[in-house]
Amino acid sequence: MYDIAFIYSEIFKKHAMDRAHPESPQRLDEFMNAVAEIQKEKSYNLTTLMPEIIDEELLLSVHVHDHLEKIRAISKAGGGMISVDTTLNEHTFFIAKYAAGATKQAAQLVDENQAKRSFAVVRPPGHHAESTSAGGFCYFNNVAVAAEWLIQYKGYNKVAIVDIDQHFGNGTSHIFYHRKDVLYVSIHGHPKYTYPGSGFPNETGVVEGKGYNVNVALLPGTDSIDWLHALKFSLNIVKQYQPEIILVSVGFDALGGDPVGIFNLEPNAFTAAGYLLNEVAKENCDGKISCTLEGGYKIDQLKEVSKKFILGLLGNEPAILKKLTTTKPSNHTVSMLKQVKKFHNEFWKF
Ligand SMILES: [Zn+2]
Repeated sequence: MYDIAFIYSEIFKKHAMDRAHPESPQRLDEFMNAVAEIQKEKSYNLTTLMPEIIDEELLLSVHVHDHLEKIRAISKAGGGMISVDTTLNEHTFFIAKYAAGATKQAAQLVDENQAKRSFAVVRPPGHHAESTSAGGFCYFNNVAVAAEWLIQYKGYNKVAIVDIDQHFGNGTSHIFYHRKDVLYVSIHGHPKYTYPGSGFPNETGVVEGKGYNVNVALLPGTDSIDWLHALKFSLNIVKQYQPEIILVSVGFDALGGDPVGIFNLEPNAFTAAGYLLNEVAKENCDGKISCTLEGGYKIDQLKEVSKKFILGLLGNEPAILKKLTTTKPSNHTVSMLKQVKKFHNEFWKF
């Protein structure tokens, strides 16, 4: 069985916005260079597989018909703008369908025990795509499509989505906001300070989904220690949920100096994140964990942080985790975690 199966193709670089746009095709080169380095240096059983295109029928279980047709039409016309920060070219519709397909495929490889872990190395990203609209460089919600596929086609009852991108995954959160078969947990920049302007801790879900949406919103400048405390706090809820699989929206834009991010993480925090996520999967769902790429725009360090995250996911424990036991989070993070506790007290144990 593969230690990690990556799903990647050069076709993901065909979708592009303007030249200066941070969500650039080069991001994927940096990620795949990290994979190549690990393959050269270590003896893990890694593989890279070609992506499959998503079935439009499956896409329509997450997105309304009009949204799909709008993306198709703009692409067919040669491209254009769909929101202030998000444009399409002639390939976008086709490539976004491959990104959703690759994310579903990654989940499938883990579900079918062909890979212990998987990673869909895709563009465009997906977590800002709502069922009815595109935005935040996203068109179709890749991770939501994968979760929906596991539930509809494989009979899953409990899928946990952990979103460590620096931005709140408004699309993913809202798509499952009324449901308990998907737990959505996100650690992100406080909506008062950053895109998309939602993701407050009192947004806990509605009807059956009440308690199954967990938002941990942290302040600008959040460092590795605070972020990792928040991640551990969030993973404690994931453990209680007892998921059958963990899907991870992996963004690297919480790294210090990211042109689109407001946090101040050091690269080692990503090793710790990969490690902690893998541990929770091992303890709770036979190690089933499948990742998909979201943001991360600091090109000169993308290879480094991708490599660190992957090594963590493979079980390499970083020294920074020891620091966590001796260093408390800052007052503002303590107060945020208290707020999350307050809103979720009736659903989870703290
Ligand atoms: Zn982001």
